[in-house]
Parts: sequence; structure tokens; C-alpha cells
Amino acid sequence: MNKRTSKFLSYYRPYLGLLGMDLFCAFLISAITLILPLCVRYITDVLLPGGSAQPTVDLALIAALMLALVAVHALCNLYVDYQGHVMGALMERDMRRELFAHYQKLSFRFHDEQKTGQLMSRITNDLFALSELYHHGPEDIAIGILKFGGVLLITFGINPLLSLLIFLFLPPMVIYALHFNRKMYRAMSRSKQRIAEVNAQVEDSLSGIRVVQSFANEDLEQAKFDRSNRQFVESRRHEYINQAYFYGGMSAFTQLMTVVVVVFGAVAILQARLQISDLITFLLYVGILIEPIQRLVNFSRWFQEGFTGFARFMDLLALQPDIQDNADALELRQVKGALELQDVSFGYDSRFGDVLKGLSLRVGIGEYLALVGVSGVGKTTLSALIPRFYEVRGGRICLDGVDVRRLKLSSLRRHIGIVQQDVYLFGTTVADNIRYGKIDASPAEIEDAARSANAHDFIMALPDGYETDIGQRGIKLSTGQRQRISIARLFLKDPPLIILDEATSALDNESERAVQESLARLTRDRTTLVIAHRLSTIRNADRIVVLQGGGIVEGGTHDELIAHKGIYADLYQLQMEH
Ligand code: ADP
Ligand code: MG
Repeated sequence: MNKRTSKFLSYYRPYLGLLGMDLFCAFLISAITLILPLCVRYITDVLLPGGSAQPTVDLALIAALMLALVAVHALCNLYVDYQGHVMGALMERDMRRELFAHYQKLSFRFHDEQKTGQLMSRITNDLFALSELYHHGPEDIAIGILKFGGVLLITFGINPLLSLLIFLFLPPMVIYALHFNRKMYRAMSRSKQRIAEVNAQVEDSLSGIRVVQSFANEDLEQAKFDRSNRQFVESRRHEYINQAYFYGGMSAFTQLMTVVVVVFGAVAILQARLQISDLITFLLYVGILIEPIQRLVNFSRWFQEGFTGFARFMDLLALQPDIQDNADALELRQVKGALELQDVSFGYDSRFGDVLKGLSLRVGIGEYLALVGVSGVGKTTLSALIPRFYEVRGGRICLDGVDVRRLKLSSLRRHIGIVQQDVYLFGTTVADNIRYGKIDASPAEIEDAARSANAHDFIMALPDGYETDIGQRGIKLSTGQRQRISIARLFLKDPPLIILDEATSALDNESERAVQESLARLTRDRTTLVIAHRLSTIRNADRIVVLQGGGIVEGGTHDELIAHKGIYADLYQLQMEH
């Protein structure tokens, strides 16, 4: 058994009891389906006038037996339909849990590449198809083979010739069924893909609805949407035509078999080579035969679909997070906050060359260091390397003299606080969003943090104060308010190292003052790397360094750099003129 198969089967392990019971019920269902026509045969052959043998049991007993069988059959069906599906859902849950945990471990590099919608489809649609396979697979195989084999054996025992006649139908029927089932399956997966495209399209347009409307480009978006929506109908059409061929053909085959059995059976009866009771029995079994065939064919489809989903699932799980803890990773305690970048090189993609080329920089404990440079030069990139969101390609980054790659990721990141221009707030209450900085913070601590972040007053003015639901992405708050909530988070987190990446660039003067004030409080006595667009905001920095061409090209205090008349002086001059 290869690794993939054994991994596939391993998800049954916690549910072997359920699976066993499911299979047992499947066995009973098949057996009862096969026994009932035999009861009918006994009644027509033995109990009715002109019976071929002396009755040993009477009609009442047979009737009671049949009723009991029907009751057991119904109960088994109930169990299979209910518990079988629940088992599938439980297995789906387990796999989904594993995949979600994996998603969270994969680094920025992975998430830069992936569309969220695709990842969502993997974790919902694919896994649903799998759960269907997990649940229906064993059952379909068991019921399919038992019923099919049973019908074959029993009818052959009654009348080999007529039985052979029926089974002559089977090869063309199976070929037909497999053919159209495969086409139906292909069309189905294509339309699923199309639906995913429609989803992605809707997500894209709606996420950007503010841009769409501000450019009045609704028609363009509608046209894009219409295209994927139209393709969706095409693939659905294809799916339904094949589905109609499949189910229609199957029932046509069954009817044909019935007709043939009736005609040949009648001839045999006329020639006194067959009993009427046998013909009735045969007809009943022909009626049963279609079900196991459909089950087996369905299984082949579930199997393909589930297994492609499983292959994708395994491929995702096989992606090793490119950034993870070493086996002997260190836990950081008592960080002082000395930061040093030594000869650091980094690029996102080898095709585009490096963003940072042998950059060296040292930030002392408690120092307030400003990093400036034109847009796109790599300031944000540099700041993302410090918490190891990306891995350096060359050189190293040390926190308190220890290479960050030797530290536990969680412990490294716990000691760094980042404020960015864009703030992501979760779609829950203000208090919950602040609490994100320290999960077990008390309400009093949350309020303290909010006060330090100059956020308390506006929060109290919200309809429900700290319990106000800020909705998706905090859209109901202004940029400055969101910024202050994100700063309150950091007061709770209390990291020794702070990175401010254009934290106030998008703010108007009024809210900038409130944010600046809270930032000043936050960065006091902490090592701070501040990236600022507006140079006036960093005049008081302990030191200012200029990033250009992948390295630090100038450094000093504001006055020194102005006197130096280099790049900084030029940039500053330029901004003062505006
Ligand atoms: P800055 O913050 O100085 O304006 P960035 O660090 O954001 O600049 O970007 C530096 C360069 O890296 C730019 O050329 C940008 O296009 C590229 N870049 C930034 N982020 C990514 C990413 N996630 N994937 C690939 N390239 C990126
Ligand atoms: Mg930037």
C-alpha cells in the first residue's frame, strides 16, 4: 500500500466502530433486499392454489417474517443514512482542522501567491467531496457487490438460461453507464471550477467595490462577471445532458431487460419449462439489479472526484512551511531590544533581482531610529525580515546578538510590535480587537491600553462602547481610529521592539496628532524602527538612515544629514517646498 493510500485510510481510524456498524447495516440491507423476492416466490410457488410443494409454513408466518425484514431494512437504512453521513462529516472535520492549521503555518511567501478563494475552496468543496467518498465508498462497494453477486447466484439457481440472458445485458449496460458517468463527472468538475471562478470574480469585485464605484466602472465588472457566469451555464448544460443520458439510459436498459424477461419467460412458460412464480421472481430481481450497478458506477465517480480532492489536500499538506522553528530553537526571555542586521540580502523572486543587497544596520537598545528612502526602495521589506515573515537570503539579523533564525518564531514575534499604514481589524467587537494583543487581558487592562492609545474617548462615544461590533475590516471606523486601536493592542502586547511602517502617512492632521501622541508614549524606552514618509515627523529621531540601492547610504541626526547635503537633505528640501 503506498503512502497516499495509507494516509487516506488513516482518517477512518477514530471511527472504526462507526464504520463497522455502517458496513454491517449495508450487509443487512443487501441480504434483506435479496431475501424478500424469495418470500414472494415461496408465496406464489407454494402457498397459492396449485402450489408445487406441501407448505411447511403458513401465509401469516411468511407475512410476519416479511414485515420484520422490512422493519430491519428501514432501521438499517436509517442508520446508514444518518450515522454514515455523520461519520463522513466527522472525518471531514478532522481533515479540515489539519488543513487550517497548516494554512496558518505557511509563511507570507505562500500567502502572497495564493488566492484566498482557492484556499477556501480546498478547505470546503474538496473536503466535502472527500467526506462523501469516505462515507459512501465502503457502503457502495459492499452493497453493490453483495446485491449484484446475490442476484447472479439466486437467479442462476432458479433458471440458468434466463439468468444468462439477463447477464448478457450487463456488459453493454456497464460500458454505457461508465461512459456517460465519466462524461458527467468531467462536466461536473468543470462547472465546479467555473463556480469557483464566479466566486473569485465576485470576491474580487466586492472587495474592491469602493474602487469600482469610485471609477464608475460597474459596467466593466458586470461584463467580467457575465463572462464567467455564462461559462458556468455552458458547463452546467454539458453536465445535465450527460446526466440525462446516464440516468435515462440506465432505466431504459432496465425496462428493456424487463420486456425481454417477460417475453422469453412467457415462451418458456408456454413450453412448460418455467413456472409463473419463477417469472415473477425474475422480474423482481431485474428490478433490484439496476441499483448495485448504479452504486458501483457512482462509486467510481466518487472515487475519482474524492481522490483528486485528496491529492490536492496532500499536495497542500506536503508544502513545508519555508519558515519554521529549528529543532533546537531558543525561547527568548528578557529581551533588551538590540537589533543588528549584518550584510543582509533579500529578494522576493529571483527573476526580479534583490531588493536588499548586503545591508548592514545596527539599532541600539532604546534607540529611536528612522529609516527613510523613496517609495519602493525596500523599507517595508526590511521591516518584514525582522520578525522573519520572510527569510533572508544572505547575511543575518540578530536580536540581542542572537540570530533570529535560532529563536522560536512565536517568541521572536511576541517581542516585536508592528504598526502599519493599513490596519486589519477582525469583524468583532472593539474590546476583542484590542484584546488580540494579550488574550487574557482584563477589561481594566484593555481600557488602560485604549487610554494610552488615545482611543478611550472615541470608543466610549461608539454606540456600545467597547462592545461595539466594528464589522468587517473595521469599516465603520476612521483610519485614525483604527490606527489607535491597533496601537492599543501593542500597549497590551508590550514588546521591547517596535516597528512603525508609515503609521501616520494616511492620516489627516487632526488624527495624526492623536496618533503621534500615543505613538510617542508607546515607543518611549523601547527600541524603535520608524519608517516615515513625512520627514517632518522624524526630525527628533536619535538617528536617521537612508536606504538606497539595497543598502544604507547615509546616517546621522537630522542636523548632521542636512549639513551633509546628501540624499536626505535633498528629500527634506523637496518636502519643505510643498
Ligand atoms: P517601500 O516600503 O520602501 O516602499 P517595499 O519594501 O514595499 O518598498 O518594496 C520593495 C520592492 O519589493 C518593490 O519593488 C516591490 O515591488 C517589491 N515587493 C514588495 N512586496 C512584495 C511581495 N510580497 N512580493 C514580491 N515583490 C514585492
Ligand atoms: Mg512600504
